[in-house]
Amino acid sequence: MTVLVPTMGALHKGHQALIKRARTLDKDVIVSIFVNPLQFENKADLEKYPRSPERDIEIATIAGATEVWFPEYEDLYPEGFKTLSSGALGNLYEGSSRPGHFDGVVTVIDRLCAIAKPDKAVFGEKDFQQLTIVKAMKSKIEIVAVPTVREFDGLAMSSRNLRLSETGRSVALVIHRALAAAKLAPTVEIAQEILNTTLSMEPGFDKDYATIIDEKDFSLADEGTENRRAIIAGWVEGVRLIDNMPMVGR
Ligand code: AMP
Repeated sequence: MTVLVPTMGALHKGHQALIKRARTLDKDVIVSIFVNPLQFENKADLEKYPRSPERDIEIATIAGATEVWFPEYEDLYPEGFKTLSSGALGNLYEGSSRPGHFDGVVTVIDRLCAIAKPDKAVFGEKDFQQLTIVKAMKSKIEIVAVPTVREFDGLAMSSRNLRLSETGRSVALVIHRALAAAKLAPTVEIAQEILNTTLSMEPGFDKDYATIIDEKDFSLADEGTENRRAIIAGWVEGVRLIDNMPMVGR
């Protein structure tokens, strides 16, 4: 029995949490490391994506990976391969700002699974829209989710944080501040207001979206929505950052 943990490398404690979870599921844990060009609509973003293969092998192995797999582009995408569609959800939010992004995601996951043939795959809630889309893929592979791992001050761990200056990093904290404050709000409307106000008070944060959605289909949440979640995306120093938090429970 094999568990796959798909990543793009520059591994951190968030990835390690996924690998550790995978180890609790089965004894063979494959960590794939592939910066997938298909899911980057922005070429500069792809080129700047941090890469640290040697360190990644160490971090993955320490967390319990039994194989660290660096697929080649040609292995995953033989000539004439077809890009899959991520469906309607793939066009909202992250998909709206990054056209084609989720089609690239579902295509790479499909190819990775076709080659590695895992029984299960582990994904992070950090990329909540991705997790939802992957869960909806027609596949027999069980998808296991792991909650977002954060720095001591709330910043969601991300390979992209490496591209922030010290000042940028402190600006980025506004994202978690907004999420945590919104969670305390008595109504969805007030929670939405708190998101907007908190983010607007940080001039270094260039908001893309900050919305409270229904986890089921990413429609706008209201008081009757059982599982609602705040999702935020924006740029700090030109680096795109995303985060999210359930607004009820946990
Ligand atoms: P990435 O390498 O950014 O493509 O991420 C690979 C996997 O790790 C995805 O399933 C992400 O959701 C997950 N991941 C990334 N950052 C975190 C984090 N801070 N906490 C939990 N999972 C994460």
